[in-house]
Amino acid sequence: MEKETDIVIVGTGAAGLFCALQLPESQRIMVITKDRAENSDSFLAQGGICVLRSEDDYQDYFEDTMKAGHYRNNRASVDRMIQDSPQIAQLLMGYGVEFERRGGELAYTREGGHSKPRILFHEDITGKEITGKLLSQARQRDNITIYEHTEMLDILCEGNVCRGIVVLDRQGQVAPVRAGHTVFACGGIGGLYRHSTNFAHLTGDGVAVALRHGIRLQDVNFVQIHPTTLYSKKPGRRFLISESVRGEGAVLLNAKMERFVDELQPRDVVTAAIEKQMALDGKPYVWLSMEHIPKENLLSHFPNICQKCLEEGYDVTKECVPVVPGQHYFMGGIQSDLDGRTSMERLYAIGETGCNGVHGANRLASNSLLESLVFARRAAQDIVSSRKKAGQNLAECGQGLAESYFHSERYRDLKKLRQENQALVRQEIERRKKEYEQQNHHGVKCG
Ligand SMILES: Cc1cc2nc3c(=O)[nH]c(=O)nc-3n(C[C@H](O)[C@H](O)[C@H](O)COP(=O)(O)OP(=O)(O)OC[C@H]3O[C@@H](n4cnc5c(N)ncnc54)[C@H](O)[C@@H]3O)c2cc1C
Repeated sequence: MEKETDIVIVGTGAAGLFCALQLPESQRIMVITKDRAENSDSFLAQGGICVLRSEDDYQDYFEDTMKAGHYRNNRASVDRMIQDSPQIAQLLMGYGVEFERRGGELAYTREGGHSKPRILFHEDITGKEITGKLLSQARQRDNITIYEHTEMLDILCEGNVCRGIVVLDRQGQVAPVRAGHTVFACGGIGGLYRHSTNFAHLTGDGVAVALRHGIRLQDVNFVQIHPTTLYSKKPGRRFLISESVRGEGAVLLNAKMERFVDELQPRDVVTAAIEKQMALDGKPYVWLSMEHIPKENLLSHFPNICQKCLEEGYDVTKECVPVVPGQHYFMGGIQSDLDGRTSMERLYAIGETGCNGVHGANRLASNSLLESLVFARRAAQDIVSSRKKAGQNLAECGQGLAESYFHSERYRDLKKLRQENQALVRQEIERRKKEYEQQNHHGVKCG
């Protein structure tokens, strides 16, 4: 593995890969992932990706995003995300991404919190379609090298300037990688929870590193719980039943098989209603019925969900499935501006790891793939202009620094380091939640 590169990106999800692809081919780019390249939450996205269909929808889309976020969103971030969305959809289609079409025209679906259908989708595997195509594009580029099973343990920093990262490579060696610019695209924090829809290896590592180095965080008290994951007694990742199923007509039922909530409200509202109902019923789940969706629509729009439920013993065309809320998304993260810049020079944070306030207190469904791509692209553009200004081989800096990290005691016991990192993130989330609740005890309650 190389010891020096122009840009190192941590994460092979939609944010990391799109950032790599938006950088010029003249730059040497290293993209690393802890696991297989395909094992990112981006591959799991089911529902779709939002897009501004026409200028007529701008106000409504803006309002839906703000309302879902309890108006705690950063308005400039929301505006940027919405304005850039048509271009992002075009770029994706340019990379070969196929979205559902009806009569030759793009088809749009709707999810909870959306006042109109404005979500592009590919069956119920939109994330796989998008991220798979980005991955295959990245693999074809000579200037991009992807290292699987390579874990970022730390950053190299000199004062408040990031000079690269420390990795554990697939041979089990700890090694410094010097880089002119470093991008954190390490996803969310689901691995810290017992019940989560996320991959278990997503444990908020970027946030832990930020905490250790005094890099600013934002909104870490805002953790989204998804209302409908398939109830199971088995351990491991919970299977998500996308909101678009409810958008297409599925309803939630209590133990007496009665509806108890408007299913198309934002996630936190539906989650709170389900939790209340479970307590009233004395059950660890409520029921989701898809019987109002015509069978052919159900099977063609949601083949993956139908199949997965069948594997768990439920034929959704004939019966209800038990569902329970589970940790799903991290609205907070490493504070970043609209160009992905963090409070540390030459360190960027994008995708679920970064937080520019676009989601506020609660993410609107299908805004996260979009924001990952919008701000990944802006980070890439900012890196390009920063490199032009610097006009030097930035990765050459920090040689002595890398050596000192390499010999650090800190990486002798990696199990302990990981446990400490995870505890650090958990504690910070809990601390900020308490602080927030004390300040706003009449305000919103999030996850
Ligand atoms: C089941 C499910 C369904 C979803 N459905 C939708 C949807 O329909 N629409 C939508 O917009 N959003 C959806 N989301 C959310 C969305 O998929 C994610 O928020 C988004 O894809 C995050 O992308 P990302 O690139 O930031 O992170 P991820 O795709 O999670 O990628 C993180 C990457 O970082 C790597 N990594 C982490 N730590 C380290 C480390 N220490 N060293 C090296 N590598 C590391 C991981 O291995 C991985 O490659 C869904 C999420 C889930 C879980």
